[in-house]
Amino acid sequence: MSHHPSEHRSNPEYYTPIYNMALAQFEQAADKLNLDPNLRKRFTDPKRALMVNIPIRMDDKRVEVFHGYRVHHDTTLGPSKGGIRFHPDVTLGEVSALAMWMTWKCALMGLPFGGAKGGVRCDPHALSRNELQRLTRRFTAEIIQFIGPEIDVPAPDIGTNEQVMAWMMDTYSQFKGYSIQEIVTGKPVNIGGSLGRIEATGRGVVYCILEAMRHLNMQPEGRSIVIQGFGNVGYHTAHILHKKGCRIIAVSDIKSGICNGKGINVPALRQHVEKHKYIEGFPGGDEISNADLLELSCDVLVPAALSGQITHENADRISCKILAEAANGPTTLDADKILQDKGLFVIPDVLANAGGVTVSYFEWVQGLQNFFWKEEEINERLHDIVTVAFQNVLRIALSEKVDMRLAALMLSVRKITEAKLARGLFP
Ligand code: GLU
Repeated sequence: MSHHPSEHRSNPEYYTPIYNMALAQFEQAADKLNLDPNLRKRFTDPKRALMVNIPIRMDDKRVEVFHGYRVHHDTTLGPSKGGIRFHPDVTLGEVSALAMWMTWKCALMGLPFGGAKGGVRCDPHALSRNELQRLTRRFTAEIIQFIGPEIDVPAPDIGTNEQVMAWMMDTYSQFKGYSIQEIVTGKPVNIGGSLGRIEATGRGVVYCILEAMRHLNMQPEGRSIVIQGFGNVGYHTAHILHKKGCRIIAVSDIKSGICNGKGINVPALRQHVEKHKYIEGFPGGDEISNADLLELSCDVLVPAALSGQITHENADRISCKILAEAANGPTTLDADKILQDKGLFVIPDVLANAGGVTVSYFEWVQGLQNFFWKEEEINERLHDIVTVAFQNVLRIALSEKVDMRLAALMLSVRKITEAKLARGLFP
């Protein structure tokens, strides 16, 4: 009896709802491109995945074991690139989906990188600084064969930051016996980080919003903006838009949100959060839940937190003109369809939040060359790359009569496909 090859691969461990969502997005693009099935198969699964168990001595002397992952989705265009997430919901499926999105994101921006992602299932807020440092160092040691400046270059993501990158860089360097800055991006400037990296994702989100406004004939001044999330991306997006004269009418964090139709004083909110850690208790507005915040009527809605926020349950009540996906995967597939029918202009995650990895690329290049650029130079180049990508995607969306997500994925898949064909299939 002969078996169909697909029977043997019916249930890979990473086939979880979020991976299936990433896969379904890819399949829409593949269908639209009429992609050869031989090529299609090569994008469907991550190229390789590493799972590690990380034993850590906790402050109370107990030993805890954490689960960690690093996934390389595709490496056709270069070393793989992508962040490291520390969050209680991290799974192999989530990391694999995020790695696939990194593949599209890097190709779309024209960066010489493939896509990767990593993560550790933990609650970083429940760990002491010492525990977090030990976890980061041991995780780095466990994946050390899997990363490298020419192999795979990590960066921050949810729950990680400049300090975590500094520990990763130091651990990697200790193993190799000399300082290797290019092993991670998003590190502090004083150890080879790039100027402008911290704000880069927010900047990219703003450049995309401004391009979308131009396309829709909207003036930025006085426009109402709602932002879910006040982490690195949410804050910088809010701050830059605030400086451009937009009204930030609502912002939230994991605990709660606030709204003020006249516009929130973003610098004052930042000061409050620096002091009290959370938005809660900020006097400049009324309290609002995260769920209600998403449904506020506004010009631009920016989900800048976790995935799966806009679903078939609330999509019908989303009431913005532009949806700028600063988070990865905030909109589910069925919600996407509803938003499209409503005529919303969606700037997909792989385009909206690609400013971060773009300046990561600048950081990697600066580290490899030991030659560092001025901040204006970085921001200017970032602006060029993001706006060119936006216009390329928009052109395909208009000519093929598809939404921006499908257009973006079509562009990325086509680019990588051409590279795969040029390289040929080994052996
Ligand atoms: N974690 C970020 C992302 O999802 C940045 C990745 C990077 O800079 O490599 O795009």
